[in-house]
Amino acid sequence: MNNNGLSPIPPAEYEARARAVREGLAERKLDALLVSNGPNLRYLTGFTGDNANLLITEAAGALLVTDPRYRIQAAREVSCAVEIAEGPVVVEVGEAIRREGVTRIGFEPARITYEAYQGLVPRLPLHAEAVAVSGWIEGLRMVKSAAELALIRHAVGISSKAFEQVAAKMRAGMKESDLAAELEFRMRRLGAEKPSFETIVASGERSALPHAQPTAERLCEGALVVVDMGAFHQGYASDMTRTLFVGKPGPKVKRAYRAVLEAQLAAIDAVKAGRPTAAVDRAARRVLAGYGLERAFVHSTGHGLGLEIHEPPRLGRRDKKRLEAGMAVTIEPGVYLEGWGGIRIEDTVVVTKTGCEVLTPTSKELRVV
Ligand code: ZN
Ligand code: ZN
Repeated sequence: MNNNGLSPIPPAEYEARARAVREGLAERKLDALLVSNGPNLRYLTGFTGDNANLLITEAAGALLVTDPRYRIQAAREVSCAVEIAEGPVVVEVGEAIRREGVTRIGFEPARITYEAYQGLVPRLPLHAEAVAVSGWIEGLRMVKSAAELALIRHAVGISSKAFEQVAAKMRAGMKESDLAAELEFRMRRLGAEKPSFETIVASGERSALPHAQPTAERLCEGALVVVDMGAFHQGYASDMTRTLFVGKPGPKVKRAYRAVLEAQLAAIDAVKAGRPTAAVDRAARRVLAGYGLERAFVHSTGHGLGLEIHEPPRLGRRDKKRLEAGMAVTIEPGVYLEGWGGIRIEDTVVVTKTGCEVLTPTSKELRVV
């Protein structure tokens, strides 16, 4: 919410998004799409509440159905038609479907619950068919508008500032869980709604777990510390990782850190509109192979982010998409050695025609605490 309680995305942008779906129904041989509550529904309407369905029909356009708790909120946030269901939302949706004479309705298999699906099917008109439609809205969401990029940029600013504030005070003896709590507190104080995922602070051998949870363990001399964090700002995510070292790093740490940093820079260099996402992943892997560390890199090089912390495109070995200007993606190679530790460096970047813009301003030199 901004000061007037409205989304910073202009209503015309939501209307254009919903119109694009409406106009895309025919080529998918659908006369309606049912969008389940969640990020796709927010993307198409601006609605931030729970318990809503969006029905987009060829004939009538977009209709948001929610319950009375959201009457005021929906009126403020949404410019499409709104219906308030007095009973279950699905009953109202079923009525709207029959009213519009829908015979082929798309639904989102990855978004709808089985219970909601079972509630929907018996309410469809006789001979009407429910068709699974995967990845359509996610595909539209990949390329961000200027307004969306401004929100992501702001979210990146929040997490980077919070990191600086906490990293400046990091010392041996502090608990991972206290540092994670401090990072999240700082992000909120800087205007974040919440962290964009559970903050990772993983030290010592646990830094070799790419998705470690913070523990009560204290930072100790000679430990690597992976800090992976992000903020949601007005619904849009940021994501960054920095690896720090407690004490004086030896040659093995310095060499592995250099390998990851070079891999990250090579991947950033490979980002450009038109390039296959797999080529970015390859650029990082090639550098790590030069250090004999390619087998220690156990995940893909990056992912899209926006209304969700992980969204298409994925930048992995087997991914087939091409980068487009306006995509916001992370670049985050890492190496993980069991019994030793892990190093990851992650920035959020925006793809441009000539390359990319790195949004994360935080230094990537090995930081010693
Ligand atoms: Zn991350
Ligand atoms: Zn990430």
